[in-house]
Amino acid sequence: LFIVFEGGDGCGKTTQVERAARWLSQFDGEVMLTREPGGTQLGSQIRELLLHGGHVDPRAEALLFAADRAHHVATDIRPALECGAIVVCDRYIDSSVAYQSGGRGLAEYDIEDLSAWASGDLLPDLTIVLDLDVAVADARRSARSSADRIEAEGAQWRQSIRETFLRRAARTPDRYRVVDADGAPDEVAQRVRSVRATTALN
Ligand code: C5P
Ligand code: MG
Repeated sequence: LFIVFEGGDGCGKTTQVERAARWLSQFDGEVMLTREPGGTQLGSQIRELLLHGGHVDPRAEALLFAADRAHHVATDIRPALECGAIVVCDRYIDSSVAYQSGGRGLAEYDIEDLSAWASGDLLPDLTIVLDLDVAVADARRSARSSADRIEAEGAQWRQSIRETFLRRAARTPDRYRVVDADGAPDEVAQRVRSVRATTALN
């Protein structure tokens, strides 16, 4: 079972993905928690280049995220799934579409094709989109110090990222759930857990 968490910067994704993985590990089977970019050793070098290495041309950026994904899927995600593990991943293909297409303006079908090729057509069984008002997310982000190059983009950018996630979730409702990410971490975690009743998680 392959479960992905998506959402804009400051939506609380990293907190929720950890809590969800801990919660899922009490059911049978092993749970592997991982993330993109940077889920592998090669990936963490790519992450560093992407986030702290200065300007990257949008197409080069898309290819670097795809390279991270190709290696991650081949070396970690696919082997874990084949062993029967539940894989929980912080960001995946929808982030590429949201940021490199919704944000940078590359064609959505190009990003989808690139991701499909990179992952060998591996799609999540379930994608949970943590949805949060951009102003609320901004307030959360300003409370922490380490903004990367991409996080530093403007409000318009964040709005288009949010809209891209929501539009994609609405297009394939059987494989997506949108969870309201406003409120305390406990409340949001409870909303995530309640998804179990209505999906493949069950
Ligand atoms: O979620 P995390 O903070 O690890 O993401 C790292 C950065 O990379 C964020 O600024 C995120 O917006 C950006 N990103 C991106 N395209 C992706 C995945 C992440 O621009 N496909
Ligand atoms: Mg971040």
